[in-house]
Amino acid sequence: MKARAAVLFEGARKLSIEQVDVAEPRAGEVLVHMAVGGVCHSDLHVMKGDLSAPLPAILGHEGSGVVEAVGPGVRDVQPGDHVVPLWRLSCGECEYCTGGRPALCTAGIEIRRTGTLPAGGTGFSLKGKEIKRFGGVSTFSEYSAIPEKALLKIPQDFPLDRAALLGCAVITGFGAVVNAAQVRAGSLVAVFGAGGVGLNVIQTAALAGAGMVIAVDLKDGKLQYARQFGATHTVNGSQGNAVEQVRALTGGRGVDYAFEVVGLPVTMRQAFDVLARRGVAVVVGIGPTTAEVAIPVIPLAWEDRVLMGSLYGSARPRIDILKLIDLYRAKKLKLDELLTRTYPLERINEAYEALERGEVARSVVTF
Ligand SMILES: [Zn+2]
Ligand SMILES: [Zn+2]
Repeated sequence: MKARAAVLFEGARKLSIEQVDVAEPRAGEVLVHMAVGGVCHSDLHVMKGDLSAPLPAILGHEGSGVVEAVGPGVRDVQPGDHVVPLWRLSCGECEYCTGGRPALCTAGIEIRRTGTLPAGGTGFSLKGKEIKRFGGVSTFSEYSAIPEKALLKIPQDFPLDRAALLGCAVITGFGAVVNAAQVRAGSLVAVFGAGGVGLNVIQTAALAGAGMVIAVDLKDGKLQYARQFGATHTVNGSQGNAVEQVRALTGGRGVDYAFEVVGLPVTMRQAFDVLARRGVAVVVGIGPTTAEVAIPVIPLAWEDRVLMGSLYGSARPRIDILKLIDLYRAKKLKLDELLTRTYPLERINEAYEALERGEVARSVVTF
């Protein structure tokens, strides 16, 4: 069948809307009629060339949709079910899947690296030429055949536009706080970067009972969003030394947890530098492929500090995303405020420009 999709061609910096051919779902695959695609920074990193991915590809890794058809052997979903694609497919059997860290599953890593599906091929073509997938899911296509293992069925009455945000921005930020850092009530927290994921780190830290949540960003507009999501203090890093400003707010002590949600070595270093003794810095941001960061060894060893990474919220998405749905229904999770704009697929490049300017908390495209 034909579908409208946003394709990134090699050497291009913008997405181009094409009529692609979508193959029928094979064994274990599910044809999803996408309702909503989330506009996330990771796609922008690929568009700018900071993050490598096999091209040409249909981007998009956040979204939600309705099952249109299922291939042979699919058991957990049926036509009409509402689903959220998970951008890290997990086999369910390996050391990482059974150990509670499915995002580290080798099967998912291979899909991301090759841009193809576990059964081979991509299921997408344009004028007879294969188009790669992104994160296995490629949510910027009206239709996408996605492995059952990369789909989560959600309640039918949950709004699909809110649901789309759960699959990347919300689970990544929520999980970094709850699963990776395990923030305790009363602790002091700093968050570098108040974008879609950063706002979810902020709202979860507030929910976890942090005594102080200091948001750091370079844009005042994003710091205003940060306040709305529970930041108690804000620091504009373009006005003076961010590390000194954060430390001053804590009376010189430093914070118990710092989250880096930008993806740059300079902010990763700042997250380490604002820590109190025994503090934990969690790197969530996706850095340029070849970037490195230098850390001073004395405070690392003599102050018992921790520097750690967190991929996909260190989460078990099949459990944690359902928890997020409950939190939203209990009015404890801000999703309505997060979803600031909706664009038609045809205007997806405008959505990314607005994201880059820091105008939106999170926007989505519809089909
Ligand atoms: Zn994302
Ligand atoms: Zn696995």
